[in-house]
Amino acid sequence: MSRDIYIYSSDTQASKQTLRKLRKKLDNLGFTLVEEPDKDTELIVIIGGDGTFLRAIHALDFPSTPLIGINTGHLGFFQEIMPDRLDDFIYNYTQGRYSLQPMQTVRAVIDHAGVSEEITGLNEIIIASADNFSHSVHFNISIGGSFIERFSGDGLLISTPAGSTAYNYSLGGSIVDPRLKLLQATPIAPMNTTAYRSFTSSILLPPDLTMSIVPDDLPLNRDITVAYDGISRHYDDIERVDVMLSDTTIQLMRFESYDFWTKVKSKFL
Ligand code: NAP
Repeated sequence: MSRDIYIYSSDTQASKQTLRKLRKKLDNLGFTLVEEPDKDTELIVIIGGDGTFLRAIHALDFPSTPLIGINTGHLGFFQEIMPDRLDDFIYNYTQGRYSLQPMQTVRAVIDHAGVSEEITGLNEIIIASADNFSHSVHFNISIGGSFIERFSGDGLLISTPAGSTAYNYSLGGSIVDPRLKLLQATPIAPMNTTAYRSFTSSILLPPDLTMSIVPDDLPLNRDITVAYDGISRHYDDIERVDVMLSDTTIQLMRFESYDFWTKVKSKFL
């Protein structure tokens, strides 16, 4: 029976070189490298940095096949393998010495111009001012159907545990262990004055609650950017955005040496 592997790679010299080496090693071991992944593909290898990892996940529409990343980028938080450790990776993989780490995703339902559109993010979904932050936005925020606050500022970022170490962290949000099932809503430049009152810290949401964001003072506040995992879309007619934990998960392959907090320490301290 053929053992099919799909490789997604960025275009950098380091990635191309790693791709060539990996192809040769997998060919020699009798694996088949397929052009497109399908239900028979046993593993998807992503060569690049976290940005490449995110692009691959979206291009492949959040595959259920196990994923492994080889880091030829800068940070490489999702990426498990360094390019000079290909033999260790292949040995551990063929010996079955690995576990699968499920990663939650976040989903938004965007109501605009009478239609509902859905997007999914692995790191985060951001709802923010559309004009490069030269004007503040004002949103009415409800959690689980209860009105909580009228938010004023640049916008809100709702991150998964996986995305907590990305833009969320730069905004002062907390790092969340991916074993926890929750969403974190982090304000972007919240205004907290006598004129406008907004929470200035992150809010943690349990898996069963939806955060609803309704632009205030329509139509003035309708010009909004929704960004997710480095992709952004502009809307000038948003009526409401509901953000919740998604049922979609991806499976990241981790080897015996993997420990989330050791990785956090090595990448951030
Ligand atoms: P980018 O702006 O070129 O890269 C942003 C940086 O974030 C890269 O160093 C990337 O790692 C790192 N990164 C991505 N996901 C991460 C994660 N889950 N944990 C830790 N670091 C992570 O954009 P990109 O490469 O297309 O990636 C899109 C992501 O960038 C967005 O999802 C957002 O979270 C993040 N971002 C961050 C800021 C900020 O921190 N101020 C601003 C905009 C966007 P690699 O070097 O390995 O690619």
